[in-house]
Amino acid sequence: MNILVIGAHPDDCEVNTAGLCLKLKEKGHRIKYLCATNGCTGHYEMGGGALVRRRESEFREACAIAGFECEMLDIPNNEIEPNIFYRKLFVQAIRLFETDVIITCRPNDYHADHRYTSILVLDCITSIRIPNVCPLTPHLRRNPVLIYHWDKFQNPSFAPDIAIGIDDKMDMKFDMLHCHKSQMYEWLPWEAEIGHQVPREDHERRKWLPTWRNAKERDIANLSRELLVRRYGPGQGRKITSAEAFQFTEYSRQLTDHEQDELFGSI
Ligand SMILES: [Zn+2]
Repeated sequence: MNILVIGAHPDDCEVNTAGLCLKLKEKGHRIKYLCATNGCTGHYEMGGGALVRRRESEFREACAIAGFECEMLDIPNNEIEPNIFYRKLFVQAIRLFETDVIITCRPNDYHADHRYTSILVLDCITSIRIPNVCPLTPHLRRNPVLIYHWDKFQNPSFAPDIAIGIDDKMDMKFDMLHCHKSQMYEWLPWEAEIGHQVPREDHERRKWLPTWRNAKERDIANLSRELLVRRYGPGQGRKITSAEAFQFTEYSRQLTDHEQDELFGSI
């Protein structure tokens, strides 16, 4: 199956889905990360074209080491909005990848880029198979299935349908995040006011990264313990320390039993 992960920012797809996608890739599925905005404002001293080119090359490098395809749309950070022009860009990208499944964020989110990326996906998902929408980009025979990745927002709260243990993929996930140097070692520490903690040497930074960024996967594992136990059995399910979780949505075509098994069976 062709799995298209659509993130608002250059590291969003990795942060939220790398563990699952590495497992799906191993099973023979085709993975593409699509970044909706070009990262142009996510820095405290660098900007414009130079930052966009740096972000794009970091994103490309992270996808390359995982064997994922990737594409970054040239929409400036903080300027994406749910309009017809961007909706058509999304329709074209989803069709050209012959997408079976889209994974993205939910529309209730603190960040406008996340919110509108999610809304754009929702706005176009039922028109993927309508020939007269974007008629020059061949339509697909079936609309894709839409799946949301985990978030911590409460109104309404995320309700996971599936949790995947990713302890065996955390090293690779951090290798991918390590490629996003302008983000992991510059912008995010600056935002969190811990810039002084960032080591200077590259190999020291890679060692430091999991000490700072592993809480999310650990929280997901603890919050989704019941689902993990159901999937992996009590022995293995209780031992899992890192997980990613996903919620199915009523707004798209639903996965068939066969597709569910093809995607999530024995991973
Ligand atoms: Zn983001």
